[in-house]
Amino acid sequence: MSDLDDRIENVVIIGSGPAGWTAAIYAARASLNPLVYEGVPKQSPTLMLPGGQLMLTTEVENYPGFPEGVTGPEMMEQFKKQAERFGTRIETDDITVCDFTERPFTLQSARGEQVKAHAVIVATGATANWLGLENEMRLAQSGGGVSACAVCDGALPIFRDQVLAVVGGGDTAMEEASYLAKFGSKVLIIHRREELRASKAMQKRVLDNPKIEVVWNSVVIDVLGESKVSGVRLKNVKTGEESTLECKGLFVAIGHTPASGFLKPGQLERDEKGYIKLVEPQRSLTSVEGVFAAGDVADAVYRQAVTAAGMGCRAAIDAERWLAEQGLA
Ligand code: NAP
Repeated sequence: MSDLDDRIENVVIIGSGPAGWTAAIYAARASLNPLVYEGVPKQSPTLMLPGGQLMLTTEVENYPGFPEGVTGPEMMEQFKKQAERFGTRIETDDITVCDFTERPFTLQSARGEQVKAHAVIVATGATANWLGLENEMRLAQSGGGVSACAVCDGALPIFRDQVLAVVGGGDTAMEEASYLAKFGSKVLIIHRREELRASKAMQKRVLDNPKIEVVWNSVVIDVLGESKVSGVRLKNVKTGEESTLECKGLFVAIGHTPASGFLKPGQLERDEKGYIKLVEPQRSLTSVEGVFAAGDVADAVYRQAVTAAGMGCRAAIDAERWLAEQGLA
């Protein structure tokens, strides 16, 4: 047992992406002496990392304040330093169990530490779903033209006036294709069925765009190219026929998985996909008083670093006000 056991923290922040660090900066400046569980570095890029999804992003060009752009890992390092500057304490450990049924709340870490807290901010993020192909992961990690976020990466020079492919048939895939059509010479949506899942309005926007075409009943079975994407290998699921499609970018838009699996069922209200439900518009309040949520774990729609940071700010302010109202800090 560690010496953390006897103390009751004002606020524990779980997660170390833009939402977690922003919550830490605000909470630390409000003299709440926050403790951040930043997570443990893991091998697989499909799992949560300290720093979150930005650790897998090369160039970030749309975060205000970085006119020349910044790499995702650099940006997260800056966020972390800023949180540390105001006294944030950091544990490089994962929270694996939360008990929100009794106050103060009890959190258990992967290393077996127990920490008690009056307030908790859950900012564990989400992970993009990937196809699971070896070359897809290699080229995603090296900035070679595979991405799970067109809004983040689509405007990069390597994609300008090129043929680009988007995988998926949901609203995100439609949005990504529309966005990419501004930069690419042509956008091909590769969908595994012959009917799109996206809303009718989003479908219309895409199908009416002369730069966008849909490749129906097809799955990507390999990504081609050594250091940069040169094309994808496709398989028609109806005929079994294989073909090569030349393209310079592959955008995987097959959904996200919120990192909320460590919460026992019934502890915090979540939607059918696992996103934590916020109980009041424009706030960070969850179904349990004193537990706040911020960033992609509670946001299926925007999923941007800047929106996550904004949510982290709200969560810290909500936590500070709640602690003051309860006479706890
Ligand atoms: P989604 O609705 O779950 O769609 C995922 C798509 O990826 C589906 O078309 C699915 O195919 C396909 N897919 C899944 N796994 C695949 C695989 N292994 N290989 C190939 N294709 C695969 O996810 P989403 O589009 O990210 O949307 C998530 C939620 O956010 C939705 O509720 C959506 O409405 C919402 N959203 C809303 C907006 C907006 O309103 N502006 C924008 C973005 C997202 P099948 O169709 O065959 O299952």
